[in-house]
Amino acid sequence: MIRLKTPQQIAAIREASQILVAVLGELEQMVQPGVSTLDLDQYALKRITALGARPAFLGYMDFPASLCTSVDSAVIHGIPNKQKLRSGQLVSIDCGVEYRGYYSDCAFSAPVGEVSQEITTLLRVTREALALAVEQARAGNRINDISRAVYRHTHDQGYGVVRPYCGHGVGLEIHEDPQVPNYVGRGPNPRLKPGMVLAIEPMINLGGDDVRVLQDEWTVVTSDGSVSAHFEHTVAILEERTEILTARDV
Ligand code: MG
Ligand code: MG
Repeated sequence: MIRLKTPQQIAAIREASQILVAVLGELEQMVQPGVSTLDLDQYALKRITALGARPAFLGYMDFPASLCTSVDSAVIHGIPNKQKLRSGQLVSIDCGVEYRGYYSDCAFSAPVGEVSQEITTLLRVTREALALAVEQARAGNRINDISRAVYRHTHDQGYGVVRPYCGHGVGLEIHEDPQVPNYVGRGPNPRLKPGMVLAIEPMINLGGDDVRVLQDEWTVVTSDGSVSAHFEHTVAILEERTEILTARDV
């Protein structure tokens, strides 16, 4: 069941989002060779807590950290560890916060030091896919309009599009209906209405589509070992426009 949010609820999700993007902006500055993903996670926990919020992923289905940190061939759900990041890597950082009972979800991928041209292009194309998807996330359109925007922009340029994991409703819980796939399948295709709040999150691979889960039972990696990128925004569909609640410049 899709739960439409009232303007008051959207205002509360906006507050949660502002806390989240403040912390993510600081984390992006910290992404450098020599920092570990555990350093990033400990910083995030401290900052989110100091801002009066709670990391929504910590303890969710027993996830052990505040951030998902996914390096290179890891797509999503990577567990922070002590390994230091090295120049040439790509790290994806995904975080959810709960503030006064309202949830926001946002992710970005960033280069560590100097990365290859193909990783730079992957980052650009994935960010563009998210922007194109958000453009389609407007009242009167359907979920498939979002999915098609991601798929066409990425698959048609030869990138792999991750299928088993997708975007979702968010706001009153961290994961709500509807699912927001990054490809056009045969699943539900509801019409988008004012009051919907969606997390849209393309996960795009330099190589093929296929992914598998590591033995830690969390980390999703590309089956062919190719590098993967992930960008995510929480957006609110309003009557006349769509607001990116997790935009950094809000
Ligand atoms: Mg997320
Ligand atoms: Mg999400």
